[in-house]
Amino acid sequence: IAKKNRLEHFAYYHSDIEDQMQWRLNMIRQLRNDFGNNCLELWYQPQLSLTTGKVIGAEALLRWRTADGKFVSPAVFIPLAEYSGLIIEIGDWVISQACKQLKVLEENFSDLSISVNVSIPQFRQDNFVDNIINTMTQYGIKPNKLELEITENILMDEPQIIIDALTKLKAQGISIALDDFGTGFSSLSYLQKLPLNRLKVDRAFVTDINKEGQSVIAETIINLGKKMQLKVIAEGIEEIEQQERLIELGCDEVQGFYYAKPMPADEFINFLHQQS
Ligand code: C2E
Ligand code: MG
Ligand code: MG
Ligand code: MG
Repeated sequence: IAKKNRLEHFAYYHSDIEDQMQWRLNMIRQLRNDFGNNCLELWYQPQLSLTTGKVIGAEALLRWRTADGKFVSPAVFIPLAEYSGLIIEIGDWVISQACKQLKVLEENFSDLSISVNVSIPQFRQDNFVDNIINTMTQYGIKPNKLELEITENILMDEPQIIIDALTKLKAQGISIALDDFGTGFSSLSYLQKLPLNRLKVDRAFVTDINKEGQSVIAETIINLGKKMQLKVIAEGIEEIEQQERLIELGCDEVQGFYYAKPMPADEFINFLHQQS
């Protein structure tokens, strides 16, 4: 009986893995298809200065709406896009879309900048840096209007290739932000090696910032950023009390549902008109 159970157990997991693999391949096929049919959208979430209270820019966030009208979370499809290599084409599209939006912003909101998230496979193309510069030139956008958000896990493999690319980009005037700081696997020593302009405090360290003893990580990250002469932006602010605490701690900038959720490009422009 024991043997039979073990076999069944094995068969169960076996088919489970197969199902998962099949599901993944289906999703990738659907993503490739929908990307080709212009079904990906780039949405924008405002970022604000805590000193002026004004909008300083936005983070661009991908949205995938499938044929049945449902959204698939980026937390689900970005890893699949990375795994399949599709992220390279999608990432190029994201950057040109952000440049297009910066061109629109120039009309009335010329001091705003846009941050885009970039993944490791994008850095493996040898012309990654030139492509970005070319796209910006093509749209007539100044490099300091664009920011690239990387995560600390980016240095897990081929750190030198990545550091070289980031150094070139930063030298061109493009801003580099370290996203989700403190949630990854890398050591603090990477922080010194990376050419950065901005540090993003992850939502995980903001949520309970007003609970007894729970603000110590946020406080440490903010102080660390300041010591390194980086701007510090906190993400995931959902309540005014969190904003108040972040002001006390000396945080520079914020982003979160309390101010605005990510929204389509035209809504973002409307939002900016309402604010001004
Ligand atoms: P991220 O870069 O850390 O982006 C912030 C995430 O937090 C976004 O989730 C945003 O909608 C969410 N968020 C912002 N404020 C709040 C808040 O107050 N409360 C809560 N609960 N959530 C908030 P989203 O849009 O689902 O994106 C998830 C992740 O997917 C991003 O995390 C990023 O790592 C990745 N991603 C999104 N777009 C792109 C892209 O164009 N390229 C790449 N490579 N990755 C992307
Ligand atoms: Mg981000
Ligand atoms: Mg983040
Ligand atoms: Mg995050």
